[in-house]
Amino acid sequence: MATTVAFLGLGHMGGPMAANLVRAGYRVLAFDPVPAAREQARADGATVIDTAVAAVAEAEVVVTMLPNGRIVLDVYREILDAAAPGTLFVDCSTIDVADAKQAAEQAVAAGHRALDAPVSGGVSGAAAGTLTFMVGGAAEDFAAALPLLEVMGGKVVHCGGAGVGQAAKICNNMMLGISMIGLSEAIVLGEKLGLSHDRFFDVVSTASGQCWSLTTYCPVPGPVPTSPANNDYQPGFATALMTKDLGLAANALRDNGVDGRIGLLAAELYERFNQDAAEKDFSAIVTDIRTRSGEEQL
Ligand code: NAD
Repeated sequence: MATTVAFLGLGHMGGPMAANLVRAGYRVLAFDPVPAAREQARADGATVIDTAVAAVAEAEVVVTMLPNGRIVLDVYREILDAAAPGTLFVDCSTIDVADAKQAAEQAVAAGHRALDAPVSGGVSGAAAGTLTFMVGGAAEDFAAALPLLEVMGGKVVHCGGAGVGQAAKICNNMMLGISMIGLSEAIVLGEKLGLSHDRFFDVVSTASGQCWSLTTYCPVPGPVPTSPANNDYQPGFATALMTKDLGLAANALRDNGVDGRIGLLAAELYERFNQDAAEKDFSAIVTDIRTRSGEEQL
């Protein structure tokens, strides 16, 4: 018989992820408080349920894809007692490492099994079933979740114990935020010094400054025609999401006493940029650096 999955949170990411589970033959009991999300899930073939509690009562696996850690903890508090003992909880939301550990502890204390399984790959990866999952939790629970995660993802990595999936996610995104700022500062400096974007790319893309932010996601139009810079910085990966992830990284730096001054500064710079440009792709930070350097926008 098909495995029954309760799927809570059917937004930009959760909606297409749940649809992929339906397509793969899972019985998906879907819940989201937003009517349009429920309608879409119904159209995708999920069974829409009126409350989270009712959805989890029949499920063997509960997948959550929610906006933040507070909501994950609230939802867990509401549903843990309603689930059958031994239910496997898989939280795919991006949340604080500390919240992820707390959520897992509460699930285990209630007699369940729990994994944190945040993703990268964005909305297009969610739709295509090619997300990367970074998973924290016990090895046997990871093994149990693997077939389901492989439906929604192209790569699934067991990173360690509870919370370590979230750790991998924020470490990666902290590096990405820092590298995008560093690259953008270098590009603006190059502009001031008379170095064209094309020549900058020619040199740096094969020199020691080479990085994904340049070669795949170049923050100025031209050198990489598919990057958001060529499309007026339509995301892509929105500044609001980068700001959120850097905030989580900053919390983890502080909580763990890491001298991460560049990570904290990156969080601060994106926080400020986010006030005006939340909807823009995060690579648009180059325009902010240019403005703060007294340069006209190109
Ligand atoms: P979203 O806001 O589109 O979706 C979140 C959904 O959760 C909404 O539909 C909302 O109605 C629902 N929700 C809120 N409270 C709920 C509750 N109590 N019970 C059930 N559902 C509830 O956000 P998203 O873009 O889908 O992102 C979801 C998570 O994935 C976030 O943690 C985000 O950081 C992470 N993420 C997003 C992306 C991306 O590109 N959008 C990429 C990687 C990770």
